[in-house]
Amino acid sequence: MYYDWIGGYGYAGYQEAASAHAAAAGAERAASRAENAMLQLQDQIDRQALLIRSLLVLMDKKGMTNEAEFRALLEEVDLSDGRRDGKYRPQQTPRNCPKCQKTNSKRAVVCMYCGSPLSHEM
Ligand SMILES: [Zn+2]
Repeated sequence: MYYDWIGGYGYAGYQEAASAHAAAAGAERAASRAENAMLQLQDQIDRQALLIRSLLVLMDKKGMTNEAEFRALLEEVDLSDGRRDGKYRPQQTPRNCPKCQKTNSKRAVVCMYCGSPLSHEM
């Protein structure tokens, strides 16, 4: 027909719009999943903060440590992974124990075989 190109054009336009709509819906679902994951992480952080705070208050109440002593220990542990960054992130490769030479997991702080402290030099 003479006007077939109009119908064809309209159909192509519809397909484009449907495709854009599907892409937008996919992006919306991805954003929703990311927001849910973020909320779950925030929830876990809040729960860990409660646990850590409770342990600190308990240690203080029992006279096991005080804030100054704890802060000094915090710095020592922070430095033990080779970086003073307010975080603790052990080396990411398996390491051999300096005492018994057995291989320990990348996150181990002490040797799981003999209990020797494992160094975390970078
Ligand atoms: Zn060992």
